[in-house]
Formats: sequence, structure tokens, C-alpha cells
Amino acid sequence: MQEGVMQQMWATSHIAGGNAAYVEELYELYLRDPNSVAEEWRDYFEKLPQVNGGSPDVPHSTIQENFILMARQHQTTRPITASTVSSDHERKQIQVLRLISAYRIRGHQQATIDPLGILKREKFPDLTLEYHGLSRADLETEFQTSTIFIGKERATLQEIIDALDASYCGSVGVEYMHIVNTEERRWFQSRMESVRGSPEVGSEAQLHLLERLTAAEGLEKYLGTRYPGTKRFGLEGGEALIPMLDEMIQRAGTYGAKEIVIGMAHRGRLNVLVNILGKNPSELFDEFEGKKMADSGSGDVKYHQGFSSNVMTPGGEVHLALAFNPSHLEIVAPVVEGSVRARQDRRSDNVRGQVIPVSIHGDAAFAGQGVVMETLQMSQTRAYSTGGTVHIIINNQVGFTTSRREDARSTEYCTDVAKMVGAPILHVNGDDPEAVQFVTKLALDYRMEFKRDVVIDMVCYRRRGHNEADEPSSTQPMMYQTIKSHTTTRDLYAGVLQEQGVISAEADKGLVDSYRSALDNGEHVAKALVKEPNTELFVDWTPHLGHEWTARHDTRVALGNLQELGQKLCKIPEGFVLQRQVSKIIDDRRKMAAGALPINWGCAEVLAYASLLKEGHPVRITGQDVGRGTFSHRHAVHHNQKDGSSLVPLARLSDDQPAFQIWDSLLSEEAVLAFEYGYATTTPGALVVWEAQFGDFANGCQVVIDQFITSGEHKWGRLCGLTMLLPHGYEGQGPEHSSARLERYLQLCAEHNIQVCVPTTPAQVFHMLRRQVLRPLRKPLIAFTPKSLLRHKQAISTLEELTEGGFQTIIPEVDEHKPADIRRLILCSGKVYYDLADKRRNDEISDAIIVRIEQLYPFPQDDLDELILQYSGLEHVIWCQEEPMNQGAWYCSQHHMRRSVAQLNNSLTLRYAGREASAAPACGYMSKHVEEQQKLVDDAFTV
Ligand code: AMP
Repeated sequence: MQEGVMQQMWATSHIAGGNAAYVEELYELYLRDPNSVAEEWRDYFEKLPQVNGGSPDVPHSTIQENFILMARQHQTTRPITASTVSSDHERKQIQVLRLISAYRIRGHQQATIDPLGILKREKFPDLTLEYHGLSRADLETEFQTSTIFIGKERATLQEIIDALDASYCGSVGVEYMHIVNTEERRWFQSRMESVRGSPEVGSEAQLHLLERLTAAEGLEKYLGTRYPGTKRFGLEGGEALIPMLDEMIQRAGTYGAKEIVIGMAHRGRLNVLVNILGKNPSELFDEFEGKKMADSGSGDVKYHQGFSSNVMTPGGEVHLALAFNPSHLEIVAPVVEGSVRARQDRRSDNVRGQVIPVSIHGDAAFAGQGVVMETLQMSQTRAYSTGGTVHIIINNQVGFTTSRREDARSTEYCTDVAKMVGAPILHVNGDDPEAVQFVTKLALDYRMEFKRDVVIDMVCYRRRGHNEADEPSSTQPMMYQTIKSHTTTRDLYAGVLQEQGVISAEADKGLVDSYRSALDNGEHVAKALVKEPNTELFVDWTPHLGHEWTARHDTRVALGNLQELGQKLCKIPEGFVLQRQVSKIIDDRRKMAAGALPINWGCAEVLAYASLLKEGHPVRITGQDVGRGTFSHRHAVHHNQKDGSSLVPLARLSDDQPAFQIWDSLLSEEAVLAFEYGYATTTPGALVVWEAQFGDFANGCQVVIDQFITSGEHKWGRLCGLTMLLPHGYEGQGPEHSSARLERYLQLCAEHNIQVCVPTTPAQVFHMLRRQVLRPLRKPLIAFTPKSLLRHKQAISTLEELTEGGFQTIIPEVDEHKPADIRRLILCSGKVYYDLADKRRNDEISDAIIVRIEQLYPFPQDDLDELILQYSGLEHVIWCQEEPMNQGAWYCSQHHMRRSVAQLNNSLTLRYAGREASAAPACGYMSKHVEEQQKLVDDAFTV
């Protein structure tokens, strides 16, 4: 409660935040010298409970909490103001403290972070002397300085203000006072104030900065001259990104990092590829010249390409991976997080220090796109934490042609969303390379120390239009007038260093020339690149390359093993009390494993996971409510009714088993699915499953499905074995909970890019999940899973069906009638099979067989051909589906079925039994649903 009040105080108003900091500072003054604060304050502080035997080393949060508590107990309504203090000097001392607090909170708003000088800032009275009851007459008066890092115990007000101005209002504007954790705030205070916002940079480091800026500018100039007017989304205006990344990587190496995964959109990407990751410039030139770079696949434009390399740092070799990304800005951010988490898991890096995510954003996208908020929200959760991401905003102050404040956002800064997770935000002037280097160090140190997200907002500009063929002054005339006459960052810095005598004009020209001639010679220009990389730093994917989906793989499990696993899964430790219904489910599972009851869906599914774990494959399952399962069938996580503790039997099979992770996700689809895509594309050996709560909720992540899952392999050669479980089925629950939009996935199918399966028995789901990992093939699996079938009396399997056989792409009915007697063949997928079978049984129809197509893509053409050839007396072939005609598999899959039917005789045509075409996926009235369902089942036997 007290903490809540305090946090609210911090969070809701900067004034309140100032008061909290002010009380804290007053307390520090008191600790150092009780006589330095007014009697009334002394009185308060003396009454604070003593911690650690009276040591003054009391945590600040405790002080603040106690203060509030005490204030309440005393029922004081007196505001925390300087008027409570007696003597004039004491009063002023407190006013000075308030001014110091104001600088910490507000200083960034007066920092000179905009290189163009066009950023309009309001004047903030909080930073004036008058606002705090001080005046110029006080400037020479000395005050206590024990709460600021100024290097002496007393200083004049002028000295204090100079220090604060330098610390908070220079080229760096830092927002950290919204951070709830006191230690983190103090850390920033000390780092900013002890060096007055910018540490000394030695001449060697200065020359290195200039060299990296020369590389950044040199590449753009070179490409601009050699390929004029060709789109490259140049970095010009934001060149300081290159020294920033260089510093970040080198410093991460000294911390012992082994891998860094970078995500970024197109702006500046070519520059990063060549100058940071060490892509050979001659390869880039080939791409500019339109040469085909990959043997297979459709490829992608050069500014979406990923890259991997190893660079040398003071801490050893570091593997860099720049993620491939589509044009959809920001969506790569959660993919990077997933990839990082997978690498951390692979290394058992539980402190998350060995693999670091770096996410580079544009200002407009960071402010505008919802997936940013989702990704930030994931950052400290158990399922998705990566120990903090370093976010870098290349802040062009314009989004394509959309102006910054009026249209692009409602917030003061483009970075404000990050405050949601308490991330510190470091705004920095992109034309001050030393300040950029300083914030880079600060950001990385913070990430390594506190394992939380941090944001660098590099305020810069875009020298050209959105791309090089674009004319920006037609929409941003004033901004571009300024930009036209603005000297480049490199030249500005070269001028500074020449003035300081660090480099001569001639040597500076030498830097420019030598970079250009390296490019002319097609030489690598990333200085730290390791030519013969240590391949142990990353995964070998070659075992998974070049496999056909048709290759069979044994997915059986020996009966003894399966039963043993089944019993282990049902072992509940002494004292662990299961909820009544869960207890019954586990009892039943015990019987199923013993062969006393048929296997149901939930049992088969957990046995599939258990058997994969036993065979050495890690399993990771995420999604909304997956621990229990939306429809209460999985129960992979048990909750002790006595104390709320949880138990995950799949994680307790044996001491040496691989990791089993099952996490209920936050209520996100887009970022979460993108994360799992990132995870799966980095972990070939694991079963990675994302389950939608209802299948159509995957609508919220369509971009991930279109841009990554279905096309990633083809565009970028990146394999992915991700499994998506999408509950699907028409049960009268209305338009939003019936269809997982099968048609969407089928429409995206081509060139064997994904697998679309609709399993209808427990044995099928068992073999399907096992096949996904045991086959070397890595293709996304989109599985349409049932709801009512989870408990359907006929949707059961025997133990033998798990220990024998495999996944059947088609389930041909074992018919007691001779094939020659069969006149009607009904093809279908999914739950409707059971409705059709009921009708046939009830109506005693004997000349019809119902064949389930359990894999709709890649379509099992050979299997269907072979099956149909057995039925030479066929007169009717029907495709029956529950979905409306414009949905489901009818339009996308009928050509495959027609092909098989055409083998028999030319007059036989495939006919349709299903719902009429409809704008909505399903109706909202149960009575209408029942009527429609009855009709489509009847039609299957009559049309
Ligand atoms: P990375 O660790 O992401 O930099 O990957 C290192 C190398 O592994 C890449 O250069 C690729 O050759 C290969 N690789 C990584 N991920 C995949 C994937 N999903 N599919 C195929 N090859 C991959």
C-alpha cells in the first residue's frame, strides 16, 4: 500500500515526483548532518524506524515509504514545501534542492538534442530561479551539495546551476526520474552528474570516432555517385549510428557477450551491413547491379537482407546476426527477441548476459505501431524476457512525409511509450559523436547492470527524401531548407578535431580517401571482422537443408516407454492437492496409459511432448492460457489447491531431460507469434508451439503469417519449424469463435512453403507433433485443432495407434463393404467427419465412404489418387465442409481433388456440400447453426 502510494506519486506527476526526490534528498542531507535541515524535518527523520542497528544506510524506498506512513499517522495535511522550514538559509537550501530535482526531471526538455535546431521547445518555469523562490542575488551564496555529484561539499548556486546545466541540458537529455527503482535512478544521477553529461574523450578515441563517421558517410557518398537515383534508404543525417553500434558491440564483448542480434528497418541498413557486419562491398555492388544472389527462392531487396558474421572485441569473438526483415516496420523487433531468447536458452544463459538484443527503430514507427507496446510489455515476463533490449531510435524528425508533432503522434517524444516499462530514455544530439558514444556506454552499462530495456533516441535528420528518388522539400520545405545548408556530422566533427589539434586537414582528407579506395578495391571495411569465424558460436542448420515433405519418418514409441511416460506424467507429489475436476482428468490419464481407457486428445498430446523430451528435443509452448488449454483439455500445469504453487510434470520426467517450457502468454497475438517465429528460426532441434486461444485470433498477427511464416524461407532461405495450433470448428458459438480462417492459410500455400493439417484423432495429433521434430524437414505447421472433439466419444485412439503407424495424410475408411459396392465418396476435413459418420450410421447407408483429408497442404495427391482408384463403381464424389462456400478448403483445394477424381472417368465431377457463401464466418443463432449443419450433412449424402 505504502509502496503503491509512492509509486503513484512518482508516476502521476512530475511535481509529485519532484517532491519524492526532494524528501529523499532532504533525508540525505539529514543523514550527513542532522543540523542541516529544519527542526521539523529533523523531527520527522528522527522518528523513522532504524534499520540495521541504526545505520544510516537505509534504502531510499524505505525512507520514502516511512515518510508517507508517518505523515499519514500524524494526519498531517501540510504539503511538502519550503515554508515548513525556519531560517532563511535553510529555506533556501531546500529551494536549491528543489531546483536540483527539477533539473533531473525536466533538464532534458532544455537539452540541445536537435542538430537542426528546429525542434520547438516550450520554456519550463521549473528550471528558473524564480520558480523556486530564488534570485540572481543568491548565485554567489554557498549551499550544501551532498546530494549532487559535484565533487565538493559546498558550492555556490551558480556552480550548482552550471553543473546541472552541463549534466542535463547539453547534447544529452536524459529521462530517468520516472523509473520506480531508487537504485536505478541513483545510478543515472551519479553517471550523469559525475561527468557533467559528457566525459573526456582521449584523442585516440576521437580519431576512431572520426574514422567510423568517415566510413558511414563514405559509403553513402560512394553509392550515391556510383548508383545515382537508386533506392538505398541511406543513413545520411544519422551517420553517428555507425560509431554507436561499433562502440556497443565492442563494449558488449568486454562484458563477455557472445552473440548480438540486431533488428532494424531499411534506413541505414546497407551501411550497417557493410561497416558493422562486414558484408563485402563488392557483394553489395552486385546487388545494386541486379545480379541474382541466391540459387533458390525469390530473394528480397537489398535493404531487407540479413547477415551474420563474427567480430573481434576485447572480450573475444562475438557473433553478430542482423535479422532479415520485411517492410512492415517494427515487426522484426519481437522476432529479434525470440531469436535472442532461443540463443540464451541454448547457452543456458539464465542471467541473460551472453546474448544481447539491439533493436533499431524509426521515430514515426516507434511512436505509431502497436507491436512496439506489445514487445515492451513482454520484456520482463517469464516467457519472453531477454534481460533487456537496447533500443536505438534513428530519429529523423519526420515519418516518410508526415510531420513530427502535428500528425505523427500525440506524445512529447516518439519514445514515450517506453516509459510504460520504466525504461530510461537517452535523447542525444546525433551531430555530437562524443555524446553519442557516451549514451551508448550508459545504455549498455544500464542493460548489463539492471537487465532491463533502455532507449537511445538519436535525434538527427534525413538528408534526402524517404528514399533517394524522393523529393522531400515538396512536403517539408522549411526543414529541408535547413538541411540543405547543414554541414554533415563527419565534417562538423572533423572541424572540431582540427581545431583541437587532434588531426590535420591533410590527415583528415587521407581518412576519406583511404575509405574510398578500400571500396574501389572491394575490400572489407568493418575493421573488427573475423575472417575465419568460430562456427561454434552459432547453430549448424545443414542437417535440415534440402528435404522433401514426402520423406517418411518413424514416429512410433515403444509401448513400454509410452506407458512409463504416461505414469510419470500422472505422478503427483505428496501434499500436492489437485482441484477436483483436474484430479479426475489425471486419474483418467493414468488409466489411459495403463490401457484401461481409450486415449483422448489431451492425453495423446501430452504423451507426444513427453516422448519428444525423452528423445532429447526441447519443447516450448506459448499462447493465451496454454497451461490449462482454452478448452480445459491440456492441464500441463497443475495448481496446488492448498498453497497456489504449481507443478509441471513434463518438466520433471528425468534429471537429464531437455527443457520443457510452457508459458501462458500476455494477451497479445502479433508480438507473441513473431517472438515464437524468431525462436523457432533459431532452434531447429526443438518443438516450438504457439496456440491461439481461438483460431481466428491469429488475425491479429497476419503480418507475421504473411511476411515471415509463409514466405521467410522463400525470400531469405530461413527455415522454420514453428507449429501453430488453431482451434477451429462450427459449434454454434457465433461468427468470432468458429473459424480459424483455413482459407487464408490455403491461399498462401505454394512451393511447399508450409504444412496445413487438420487432425481428427488423438493418434493423429500425437504423430503429427512428433513428426514435426523427428523429420529433418523444417516447415511451419499450421494445425487446425478441435474444440468439441477434445471430448467427443468417438474421437479416441488406442495405445496401439500411438505405438504403431504414423501420421496419415488421408484417413481412408476401413470399410466392411467391398470397394466395388461403394457409389458415393465423401471427402472432408475436420470435425464434420463425425457428423457425417453419425448420419450414415443412423440412416444405415451402406454405399458411402467418408474419407478425411488430414493434410490439406502439401496436398497428398498420390495418396488420394491411390485411394480413389480402388473405387471403380463411384457415381458421386462430394467435398463436404462446415465453412461457407467462399471459406474453408473448397476454393483453394478443389483442383487437387478434381485431379484425383478425373482418373476414374471423365463424367464424374466433384460436388459441394457446405454452407452458402457468407460475409461472416458463421451465424450467431444456435437454431440457425443447427439447421445449416443438418442441411450440409444431409446434402453430402444427396447432392
Ligand atoms: P545466425 O546465428 O542467425 O547468424 O545464423 C548463422 C548461420 O546459420 C546463418 O548464416 C545461416 O547460414 C544459418 N541459419 C541460421 N538460421 C537459419 C534458418 N532458420 N534456416 C537456415 N539456416 C539458418
